[in-house]
Amino acid sequence: MPFNSSAIRAIIFDYGNTLIAFGPEQIAACDQALADELGRLFGPPDMARVTAVRDIDRVRPYSGDPPEYRENDLPRITAGLVRSVYGVEPSQDQVDALLRVRFEAFVGAIEVSGGMRTLVARLGQRYRLGLLSNYPDGDAIRASLRRTGLDALLDVVVVSADVGYVKPHPLPFERVTKEMDISPEEGLFVGDNWLADIQGAKRAGMRAAYTTEFIPYGREHFEPGAGDHEPDLRLDALAELEARLTGRAVEGACD
Ligand SMILES: [Mg+2]
Repeated sequence: MPFNSSAIRAIIFDYGNTLIAFGPEQIAACDQALADELGRLFGPPDMARVTAVRDIDRVRPYSGDPPEYRENDLPRITAGLVRSVYGVEPSQDQVDALLRVRFEAFVGAIEVSGGMRTLVARLGQRYRLGLLSNYPDGDAIRASLRRTGLDALLDVVVVSADVGYVKPHPLPFERVTKEMDISPEEGLFVGDNWLADIQGAKRAGMRAAYTTEFIPYGREHFEPGAGDHEPDLRLDALAELEARLTGRAVEGACD
């Protein structure tokens, strides 16, 4: 069935692996910066242990039966990392130092291609644009958006850390549609995460486009399950979105 875009007034993007690459390379850069700071504060860390704890932390919001989808408390998991790796209780100053390094490493690891920025800008001429990201630090996402220049193109930015719950929980979706002043049916959600983005958006009553342009980090990949919603669109690259919405060919969307 052809995709009918006539009711769509707004496009809401996921961030990591939808607009920007946040895959093994970026994760490794962030983990290495954190490990270096741990080493400076507490001595050389057991990297296997650091990676194991980080992997558990990343999927914790989706764990449990049923999952609560509560976003991580960043200072708490940072102190927990120190306890797990070194068996000591960090001071507030040490936690703050680790949080600063996490912030800088995250913002520094993210780049947006010129083609992607141009594409988002063109979509913004026809649609209201929002961003809804699962990340435990809203300030880091906003700093990254300023650095990549995407902030100027987005009408609304909502981060799970500010809501307290991660996608696919309904609350982040309710927050973003409310802030954009749209009904769910007027929104098209675009994301790479089958559970968080596609199932979350469809359960919230939005249309959903599933993009596979970037390589996600293995631990945060969720396979389709029985009874899952199908996305309304499947995109090998986000550049295809404009053509699917307008029926026109896209030129110059990639660099
Ligand atoms: Mg993503």
